[in-house]
Amino acid sequence: MSEGLNPVRVRFAPSPTGYLHLGGARTALYDYLLAQKSGGQFVLRIEDTDRKRFIEGAEQDLMNSLRWLGLQWDEGPDIGGPYGPYRQSERKQIYQEYGEKLVEQGNAYYCFCTPERLVKVRAEKQSKKEPPHYDRTCRNIPLEEARKRIAAGEPHVLRFKTPMEGTTTVKDLLRGEITFENKTLDDYIIIKTDGWALYHLAAAVDDHLMKITHVIRGSEWLPTAPLHSMIHRAFGWEEPVWVHLSVFLKPSGKGKMSKREAAELSKDGYSIFVKDLDGLGYLPEAMVNWTALMGWSYDDHTEFFTMQDLIEKFSLEKLNPSPAAINFTKFDYFNKLHIKALSDAELAQRLKPFFEKAGIEAPIATLELVAPILKERITTLDDAVEMARFFFVDDITYMTERFPIEGCSKTETLVIGTKVEQALNSIEVWDTDHLDTSMRALMEQEGKEPRQFFGFLREVISGQRISPPLFESMQILGKAVVLQRLRNALSFIEEKVA
Ligand code: GLU
Repeated sequence: MSEGLNPVRVRFAPSPTGYLHLGGARTALYDYLLAQKSGGQFVLRIEDTDRKRFIEGAEQDLMNSLRWLGLQWDEGPDIGGPYGPYRQSERKQIYQEYGEKLVEQGNAYYCFCTPERLVKVRAEKQSKKEPPHYDRTCRNIPLEEARKRIAAGEPHVLRFKTPMEGTTTVKDLLRGEITFENKTLDDYIIIKTDGWALYHLAAAVDDHLMKITHVIRGSEWLPTAPLHSMIHRAFGWEEPVWVHLSVFLKPSGKGKMSKREAAELSKDGYSIFVKDLDGLGYLPEAMVNWTALMGWSYDDHTEFFTMQDLIEKFSLEKLNPSPAAINFTKFDYFNKLHIKALSDAELAQRLKPFFEKAGIEAPIATLELVAPILKERITTLDDAVEMARFFFVDDITYMTERFPIEGCSKTETLVIGTKVEQALNSIEVWDTDHLDTSMRALMEQEGKEPRQFFGFLREVISGQRISPPLFESMQILGKAVVLQRLRNALSFIEEKVA
């Protein structure tokens, strides 16, 4: 626990209307870091009162994605906690009670305007170039009359009675005080006709009841922040600290991230959805490091952070409200760094599923041998399959255009090949040193360049232009396999190459 930081209670409050994306992941990460750092609690609250936008399976996706990132919550719908339930759809009654309190206090009123009327009001306001707010027709209906109409079964909503004059100031941790003219605000609906509270009321009530100390969320919530503040104030509650994070811009830096842009990204092997990243070969460690730095920095040069580093170093003071462009090249960079930082055994474990998916049986023991030489060369775990498949499959596909040895005839290539076979055969200790000495000596004896000679050997053992270092690869493959491949390659040249 860091000095001077009281234990916080933070909540990540997604609506199950879609999959967890970059923006949500960053919010949840900052929540988690702050809770861990301060010895507080990270609460997961599912804001599912908007039943129309509910997507089956989204809650499960959110939880899976958070867990994959390593952001385990302390209280939540699945594990419970002292302030549950943590799904807003299970708290309908609570919001109704608090809505009723606002009515009694004179901070809210029942509105009986029909949807048709509201559409007309909005259209009229728009034609006069005024904000499309409700015209407050029901604001002055005496409460008793309103209650009678409700008892008679008349459909109604509950609206917050926003002051019509003066200002409301919200204090945001990153932006300071933001003052809103009350006349620019609406009498927002807080409970709908069907009795479901809208997010604004539900969130304010829950933040209070769940003793949330800091509300960290995207800056798209800034325009309705005054309403949240007003609800807290109407009840006389202490407001949480408001922290509205920077917006994410498209990779080009021009404009906000859109759905179309997100679809474009998938063509390049990227995704803004956390659920896709595992399959694309990204490490959760890299995602955490990358997103942590989109809106926060420690100093002007440190880039590599593990979760533990972040817990130690994270601070709200270093959050930056300026928009951050999503830079996937940087994501690749962090993925490389975190792949390099894995132990060979760990990397082998993480690579295994990628080979399985490609239908390649890759024993862990071999993967562990291959891990150190792949580490320096792959950007995503997925890259390993193409680069290292020749370690696990025997049917190497040779291509006629890659033979004979550059600058040599077919006959000369076959002669050199046979000499390679003899030299390899006579190596007793099959390791990189001995392979290096023997092959270099033969190359010199034949008067060939490394490009020609080693390029040939690389083709023979892997059928690939690009592969991990030659002698390490040969050592891992073993003498018998290498000799077999050489014989296969020589017959291929003999039969197929002109
Ligand atoms: N349910 C809101 C969302 O889906 C949460 C906003 C907030 O954190 O207050 O983003």
